[in-house]
Amino acid sequence: MSASTLRGKTALITGSTSGIGLGIARSLAAEGANLILNGFGDANEIAKIQADLHTEFGVDVGYHGADISKASEIVAMMSYATARAGGVDILVNNAGIQHVAAIEDFPVEKWDAIIAINLSSCFHTTRLALPYMKEKNWGRIINLASVHGLVASAQKSAYVAAKHGLIGLTKTTALETAQTGVTCNAICPGWVLTPLVQKQVDARAAKDNLSNEEAKKALLAEKQPSGEFVTPEQLGALAVFFCSDAATQIRGVAWNMDGGWVAQ
Ligand code: NAD
Repeated sequence: MSASTLRGKTALITGSTSGIGLGIARSLAAEGANLILNGFGDANEIAKIQADLHTEFGVDVGYHGADISKASEIVAMMSYATARAGGVDILVNNAGIQHVAAIEDFPVEKWDAIIAINLSSCFHTTRLALPYMKEKNWGRIINLASVHGLVASAQKSAYVAAKHGLIGLTKTTALETAQTGVTCNAICPGWVLTPLVQKQVDARAAKDNLSNEEAKKALLAEKQPSGEFVTPEQLGALAVFFCSDAATQIRGVAWNMDGGWVAQ
């Protein structure tokens, strides 16, 4: 795509202060989209991310630090987007957390937090973004699900349930917008080496007395036939494609980018 394909559009990406969200933000900015970032982190580091993106791509870069586990803070974030940009043209529901434990040991508060952040937040943002998108008759909603929205792994009950639910929300949103210029799709990554996955690498290294590199290889060998991590840049390229005119008739899909994970 050209460097101005998304010029004049505004993209709100939840959880874009690190990892996949930041990678997708960079890819959308490279196409000219103005950004509204969200996520936790040190205030100086976030200000630097904003300044760097603005300098590199010449786009407007806002930030709202809503805790998206709370519906009231999502309302405030969407009001900020309306005040800053008129509304959100591209909504990327990316923020997510994970916890690993058997069901009978799974802390109830972790279950509630994962469902709130990985699933309910996407309902709240979508609900608030849709009226503006429908009025403009153009919009893109991209939900970061996971291979765990398509297949399960033991010890990840809340994450698997939330990601399966998110694919259901994606399909429903796609049906409710089918005759408009708004599309909604999900992206289902396999392993991507972000802070979220590094925690699992660390746990594996500690459990099996492995080096960092050995633990990474062990995780990949179990699930991801390519033996390589998916990158935030590759996921960003897919998000840009979903935003393109060529993708107008792609609606309600759950598109895995997983090095062959779910093909097994
Ligand atoms: P990450 O931990 O690197 O980043 C998560 C982001 O979400 C951060 O910016 C964090 O500040 C933000 N966040 C967390 N809780 C929040 C809250 N309550 N309110 C606002 N922001 C919050 O994670 P990641 O690996 O980049 O994951 C991004 C998405 O991709 C998640 O939905 C995750 O489930 C999904 N995913 C990741 C992988 C992977 O291998 N990394 C694989 C499949 C799917």
